[in-house]
Amino acid sequence: EKCVIGIDIGGTHMRSALVDRKGTVLAFRKAHSESRQGPDSLAHRLAQQCLALLADAGLPSHFLCAVGLGVAGKLDPASGSVIFSPNLPSLAGFPLAVKLQDALQVPVVLENDANVFGLGEAWLGNARNLPHWIGVTLGTGVGGCFFAHGRLWEGDRLGFSGEIGHVIVDPEGPECACGQKGCLEAHASATALVKGIDLARKEGRALSPLLNEALHAGKLTARIVHQAAVQGDPTARGLFSRMGWALALALSNLFTFLGISTAVIGGGVAASWDQFAPPMENYIRRVPSMLDPHRTRIHRSELGDMAAVFGAASLAWQRAEGR
Ligand code: BGC
Ligand code: ZN
Repeated sequence: EKCVIGIDIGGTHMRSALVDRKGTVLAFRKAHSESRQGPDSLAHRLAQQCLALLADAGLPSHFLCAVGLGVAGKLDPASGSVIFSPNLPSLAGFPLAVKLQDALQVPVVLENDANVFGLGEAWLGNARNLPHWIGVTLGTGVGGCFFAHGRLWEGDRLGFSGEIGHVIVDPEGPECACGQKGCLEAHASATALVKGIDLARKEGRALSPLLNEALHAGKLTARIVHQAAVQGDPTARGLFSRMGWALALALSNLFTFLGISTAVIGGGVAASWDQFAPPMENYIRRVPSMLDPHRTRIHRSELGDMAAVFGAASLAWQRAEGR
């Protein structure tokens, strides 16, 4: 039976899966995406990972019809290259899709990682049958997508759309990897949580032993900040409520503008739902104007790690079937 590969390259990890027409995962792999040895080595490792998937499933390479590639950042789908990526800066100008296509000898379709997250949610997740909705991914960066009439919004095809992470929620706020100040990403990403703890330490705030130890070992992650918040650390809690407020502000502005009321939130940091969702929902409920707070629906993705991989696979199927 024929199959495709869906790949999600985020700011920290790259995940890939061999997927059949129904969305069954035949093999899955996860590795670091950091490209310290340069983009060529990343492209090489990516091609190796694809071949390994076929081997894992015991399939010969001619069973592979196409590859869908989700990458963080602004992309040029025509040339198959990355234009600008706040959290994968070394990929700028690099023709990643072309390199992979040359290595594997099958078509490779390039799309933004948060847009493929949306395609995955629309195919197999919580956004099935939703007409108009906003998708948000919380990870190393914050990504977004917008679906109208069940279709991914591509705007003027400028290489980006739905970039909710770089919508400014506080012009005086912290610096973002993109060069602006006060973006949603600077409040609601894994990076923002870790930076927030680091800043609190520099300001001499007392932190729980869990956070201090992780900071000293240089091993602080968003997951540890979450653990600290669960245990009641006030700084960690404050960061999650700031995150909830920032998400609510960005979403309620967009809902008001578009006249819609539904969002799906995924990405690794969505695992901290218990910490940021209550303040987020409180804030949304307090927005008095046009929005009807009782109609607002903010769902958590249930596909976990897999949404973007599935979405990339669905793009690959579209290409393979000439749709
Ligand atoms: C990038 C987006 C990406 C998001 C999540 C942001 O910094 O601008 O393109 O979707 O991170 O990876
Ligand atoms: Zn930004």
